[in-house]
Amino acid sequence: MKEKIYTIPVNDAYASAGPCPLCSLESTMNDNLLAYYLGPSLMEPDVRQVTNDRGFCRDHLTALYKREENRLGLGLMLHTHTSHLLSDLGTVLDKSVPAGNARLFSGRQKDFRQNLLAAADRVEQRIRSCVICDRLEQTMDRYLDVIFYQYFTEPSFKKRFDDGDGYCLPHTALLLRGAAKYLNQNQAAEFVASLAAMQNKSLQTLSDDIEWFTLKFDYRNHDKDWKNSKDALPRAICKLGGAR
Ligand SMILES: [Zn+2]
Ligand SMILES: [Zn+2]
Repeated sequence: MKEKIYTIPVNDAYASAGPCPLCSLESTMNDNLLAYYLGPSLMEPDVRQVTNDRGFCRDHLTALYKREENRLGLGLMLHTHTSHLLSDLGTVLDKSVPAGNARLFSGRQKDFRQNLLAAADRVEQRIRSCVICDRLEQTMDRYLDVIFYQYFTEPSFKKRFDDGDGYCLPHTALLLRGAAKYLNQNQAAEFVASLAAMQNKSLQTLSDDIEWFTLKFDYRNHDKDWKNSKDALPRAICKLGGAR
């Protein structure tokens, strides 16, 4: 039996009514991590070392700020993080400045472009780096392992999965990558056949609902029923991009 710490959240997510079970799972985990990094942990030296080094992406910085529960803590954390950034990127930026006299250094034109691109790469690396994104990715990988384990050992979980309504596209890709990583060919044949059937069916339904949404703008359809199309656009956004 896989550890309960991973099976309970997976089963809760599959029991919830949301449009994508993995979005529910990730969203709960995301909330817990935001609370964790704004809680007492932010004063612990080992946590601070990680947040200083890796920082947060724009989405997670915005989410931390919007929670409003510990602006002082967020300020303290961002102060040491930006000091850390300054000591790292400050040097990178200083070294990226090309020599000013182009005639004297004409033979080194290529070098200066390479230096600028290397500096841009380094800045972008720091932008992409995020403690919460990293932990979400690692934990989702553990959850995938649990999903596959339960799919092939627990008939009730398999039935719930097979009867599902599909996944958002980012999580469809995650499941396919997980199947490539964790399953043998026979297992993948069974699992991916189920996933493909439910995905294609749910995309077809969504596409039909979006079409009816557009047809309702025709005056001849004005008095007809909306059927299931009133929320077709927000559902499409969730399906295409995920709910987080
Ligand atoms: Zn999803
Ligand atoms: Zn992030």
